[in-house]
Amino acid sequence: MRVFKFGGASVKDADGIKNVYDVLQKVGYEDVILVVSAMGKTTNALEVVIKNYFDKSAELNSSVQEIKKYHNQILLDLFEDEKHEVFTAVKAQFSELEYFLAHNKSPNYNFVYDQVVSFGELISTTILSHYMNYRGIQTQWLDVRNFIKTNANYRDAEVDWETTQQLISKNVKRKILNITQGFLGADENNFTTTLGREGSDYTAGIFAYCLNAESVTIWKDVPGVMNADPRYFENASLLNQISYREAIELAFYGATVIHPKTLQPLQKKEIPLYVKSFINPLLKGTCVSKGVDLEPQYPCFIVKREQLLISLSSIDFSFIMEENISEIFGLFHEFKIKVNLIQNSAISFSVCVEDKFGNFNELNAILSKKFKVDYNENVTLYTIRHFTENAAETVEANKEVLLKQVSRETMQIVTKEIN
Ligand code: ADP
Ligand code: ASP
Ligand code: MG
Repeated sequence: MRVFKFGGASVKDADGIKNVYDVLQKVGYEDVILVVSAMGKTTNALEVVIKNYFDKSAELNSSVQEIKKYHNQILLDLFEDEKHEVFTAVKAQFSELEYFLAHNKSPNYNFVYDQVVSFGELISTTILSHYMNYRGIQTQWLDVRNFIKTNANYRDAEVDWETTQQLISKNVKRKILNITQGFLGADENNFTTTLGREGSDYTAGIFAYCLNAESVTIWKDVPGVMNADPRYFENASLLNQISYREAIELAFYGATVIHPKTLQPLQKKEIPLYVKSFINPLLKGTCVSKGVDLEPQYPCFIVKREQLLISLSSIDFSFIMEENISEIFGLFHEFKIKVNLIQNSAISFSVCVEDKFGNFNELNAILSKKFKVDYNENVTLYTIRHFTENAAETVEANKEVLLKQVSRETMQIVTKEIN
C-alpha cells in the first residue's frame, strides 16, 4: 500500500482539487490512502474563529461565514449541479460547527481549539472524496478519529501507538482508494485532538508505519526537498536523495517542507519518503531513505523567523549550574516554549526559543524573580548545515548578528534585521 499526503496548498481551490484527480490518474490510485489537509489557509481562518469565540467578538459569525463562502465557491466550481449531495454534506458539517459554538460549555481553550479547527480537514476530505466519486474514482472516506487514538493533550496530542496500530491494521481496507484527514486524532473519550500545526505529514507517517506501507509520498508546491526554502533563497537546488538522518536534521532545524515528527516512524520500518511536486508529478523529486548521504555536498540553509532570544544572568554573580539549568528547562517545557538553541557561560545562559502558544510573559514573571532577564523579540535563527565561510557571509550580510554557534556540521546564527 502507498500513502499519499496532499497538503493545504495542493487543495487550495477547485483547480487544486482537479489537479489531485490528474495526479492520481498519472501515478495510480489502487491500494492507496490519501491523507488530506484543510484547504488553503482554512486552519488559520478557523484559528480566527476560535479567537473571536473566546473574545466574545461581534465578528464571530462573519468569520464563520467567510470560511463557508470560501468552501461554497469551491463546491460551485467543482460540481455543476447544486443539488449534488456534497452541498448537503458540507452544509451539515458547518451546522455541526455552529452548533458546537452555540452550545459548548468548556472554558478550556485548547480543547475548544481542537473541536473547532478539525472542521477544516473534515470538510476538505468530504469535498475531495465526493469529487473523486463524481469523476469516476470510487473512494472510501475514513474518519481518522476512529483510527488515530491519542492522549488528551489538546493541540499537541501524543499518539497511543498500540491502539492506533490495532485499529489501522484491522480496519483499513486494502486495494481501494481511501481518503482520510491529516492532523486529527481522538482521545479515549472520542473528543477530537490535533497533532500540532502542520501535522498532516506526521499522519501520513503514522498510517505508513501501521500499514507497513511500501512508501509515503508528500505532494508539495516545490520540486522536493531543496538546500534552502526557495521562497527566501534564490538558486535553491533540489536534493535528489538524502538519508533519514539528514532529513530529520533539516526538519528539526526548521525546514518546513517535512514535519519533523514524520520521519521517525518511517525510519523505524525503513519506509521510503518521497517529496514530490504536485505540479509535475512524474518528476522524481526527493527520496528520503536509509543509506549514506551522497548529498548534500553543499550548504543547506534553514530559516526560523519570529524567534525570541532570551539571556538569563544570575543576579548575584553566582554561577548558572546544572540545577538552575534543569529548573529553567523544566519551566520552558511547562510553558510549551520550544528551545531551538542554547549557549551558556559562567554567569549567563542564552536560549533562542519559539513561543508558539504566547506564554512568554507569564514565564518571564517567574524567571525574573531569580534571574536578570534580557530578551530580543522578533529575531531570526539561521541554521546552516554543512556550512562554509562563504555561506555564513551570505547570511550575515546586512544584519546584526546577536549570537553565533558552530558545531561540526552545523552553524547557527541569530540575527536582527537592521532597519
Ligand atoms: P503543505 O501544503 O503540505 O502544508 P508546506 O507549505 O507546509 O506544504 O511545505 C511546502 C513549503 O515548504 C514550500 O512551499 C517551501 O516554501 C517550504 N520549504 C521550506 N524549506 C524548504 C526546503 N528545504 N525545500 C523545499 N521547500 C521548503
Ligand atoms: N491543517 C493543519 C495546519 O494547517 C495541518 C496541516 O496542514 O498539516 O496546521
Ligand atoms: Mg502545511
